[in-house]
Amino acid sequence: MRRSIGPGVLTRALGPWCVVGVLIGHAVVAVRAVEAQATRRVQTEPASPRPGTVFRVRVAGESRAVSGRVAGEPLHFVRDSVGWSAWAAAPVDSSGRLAALVVIDGDTARLSVALSAGAYRVDRLRVAPQFGRDPDSATAARIAREFAAAKAVSRGAHETPALFAGAFVRPRASRVTSGFGTAREFNGAITSRHTGVDFAGAIGAPVRAAQRGVVRLVGDFYYAGRVVYVDHGAGFVTAYFHLSRVRVVEGDTVVAGSVLGEVGATGRVTGPHLHFVARYGEISVDGRTLPGWR
Ligand SMILES: [Zn+2]
Repeated sequence: MRRSIGPGVLTRALGPWCVVGVLIGHAVVAVRAVEAQATRRVQTEPASPRPGTVFRVRVAGESRAVSGRVAGEPLHFVRDSVGWSAWAAAPVDSSGRLAALVVIDGDTARLSVALSAGAYRVDRLRVAPQFGRDPDSATAARIAREFAAAKAVSRGAHETPALFAGAFVRPRASRVTSGFGTAREFNGAITSRHTGVDFAGAIGAPVRAAQRGVVRLVGDFYYAGRVVYVDHGAGFVTAYFHLSRVRVVEGDTVVAGSVLGEVGATGRVTGPHLHFVARYGEISVDGRTLPGWR
C-alpha cells in the first residue's frame, strides 16, 4: 500500500529548511551590502593605472584598521589627511582589469580596477630570436640560486617598515638609453621584455641609491654581473646591475644619492651602462613611476 503524504507533512518536513534558506539569503544580501559600502570607499589614483607602474590605493573616511592585496602583493596602508592610502603595482604583462581586495575594519571591499593601455614599444622580429647556448646544469643551478636570492629580497621588503621619505631620485644624472617595458615579439608571442631602465655611463661613473634603504644583497650574478639590491621597506626594492665596482656591503644603510658603486659592463651585456630595476614585492615596475620620482 502506498502512503500518501499530505501538505501538512510536507510543510513540517521542509519548513525549517526553507526558513534557514531565507535566513542564508538575507545574510548573503547583508554581506553584499556591506561589501558594496566598503567598496565605495576605495579609489585608485590614477583611476586607470598603466601596467608596469605603481599607483595609489586610497580609502576614504574613518577606520581603525585597513589591509589589502593587489596582484598577489600585500599593501601597506598608512593614515593620511583624508583616510588611509597605500602603494600598489600593476604587472607589466597585465591587461584589462586588475582584481584588488581591501579589508576595512573587517569588511571586505572587492575592486576590479580598469587598467589603461601599457603602450610599450614592441619590436616585432622577422626571424627567430637567437638564443645563446643553453646554460650547462651548473650555470642553470647558479642562475636559479641568484633568482631565489633576489626573490627573497622582494619578500623581505614587505617585512621591513617604510624607510623612505620624500622622492625616489635618478640613480644617474645621464640620459636613458633604453626605457622600461620594451618587448620583443616573434610569431605574435612576446619572447622577452626589458624590465629595467638603462642609464648611460662610462666605466667608473657613479651609481647612486634612489632612496633611503638597507643594502640586502651584493653579488656577482651570471646575467646581471655585479649587483646591489636595496630594500626600502613597505615592499619597495631597487637594484643596480652590471657594476664594475661595488662600494657598499650587505647591511649598510644608504640614503637617496649615496654612491653604491660604479657603472660597468659585468654580466651578459654588450657595453657599459646601468640597468636600474624597481620592484614592488616581486612586481617589476618602471622606476620612473616610483613615489615622487624626479
Ligand atoms: Zn637594461
